[in-house]
Amino acid sequence: MQRRTLIADEHDAKASWADEGPRVIVDAQGRRFRNLRLSLTAACNYACTYCVPNGRRLQAAVAELSAAQMAQAVALLIEAAGIEKLRITGGEPLLSPKFDELLPAVMALPLADVSITTNGQLLVRKADLIVGAGVRRINLSLDTLDAEAFRAIARGGDLATVLQGVERMLAAGLKVKINMVPMRRSNSQQILPMLEYCFARGIELRFIELMKMGHLRNGNQFVQEFFGMDEILALIGQHYEYARTDAPWDSTAVRFEVPGKGAFGVIANESEPFCSTCTRLRLSSNGWLYGCLSNARRHDMRPVLGLPRAQALARLRQLLTRALGDKQSLGFRGEVTVMKFIGG
Ligand code: SAM
Repeated sequence: MQRRTLIADEHDAKASWADEGPRVIVDAQGRRFRNLRLSLTAACNYACTYCVPNGRRLQAAVAELSAAQMAQAVALLIEAAGIEKLRITGGEPLLSPKFDELLPAVMALPLADVSITTNGQLLVRKADLIVGAGVRRINLSLDTLDAEAFRAIARGGDLATVLQGVERMLAAGLKVKINMVPMRRSNSQQILPMLEYCFARGIELRFIELMKMGHLRNGNQFVQEFFGMDEILALIGQHYEYARTDAPWDSTAVRFEVPGKGAFGVIANESEPFCSTCTRLRLSSNGWLYGCLSNARRHDMRPVLGLPRAQALARLRQLLTRALGDKQSLGFRGEVTVMKFIGG
């Protein structure tokens, strides 16, 4: 089979085929889509202060795709975009009744890796399914180990239940990463306790710099709460010696090692943007493709799902060329969209 590369101009639908390499769409900066984040549902059992402004939990989006449609969409994206890794996210993916059907369906697809991003509230309940399906990695979002601060930030759920979920995943041998969004007022004093908790369990902690999404795009909350990589490292440096280590070229995280203890990372959207090597594509729960978190432009995949395969792939390649053109060149500018809609 001839292997070709579609070289797509970022701002222009014109594209050319090169003779070598995998059949993927590449932009003028050499970026392609490799990682897909699939939002299973926009519904969530939390209402985190940085995600929703009013404390009201989000409901499922209108006309969300079924599990079968989502699995079909992922299969098409593997073929049309060269997707290698899938992360199931949301909203809260474990909340969706579709999860039980979708997980085995995507595990059967030719993907190098399938992982789940969850707030962990339902992990114990879904553990047998996750372990039985053969999932090897899980990313859990947890911003504090303090029950009161937990309630204030998440505005839903129960800390002890999440921690039971973590133990269950570790006992089953899964690789666990924890995502924490450090915020100056709400939880920056939890950075060290969280790091120690993770070191003690062989978990890699990822600090996600607060992003200017949704209601944080304007107003004071972002300015008051932003706690960036320099400050995180200064705080950790008072207690541990750390050294920066290599990360995969398209990793979103800057990684550090603390000898004898473990590793941690910082997803430094603001301090050290990674747009120039971004390989992420997002599919929302109601079928919109997003090429960039910092761009509200979206492309409707739903009509593609009704087409015969060859037509579907041809149409999808047009959408993907546009979605790739939506990526920012330099850094994260912020956007009106929120993670819950487009899959964090
Ligand atoms: N419910 C799942 C969870 O909690 O992991 C998946 C969806 S959640 C939107 C995915 C990730 O996005 C979480 O780790 C959350 O902390 C992060 N997130 C949401 N809004 C954010 C923001 N404005 N800045 C930084 N991270 C954000």
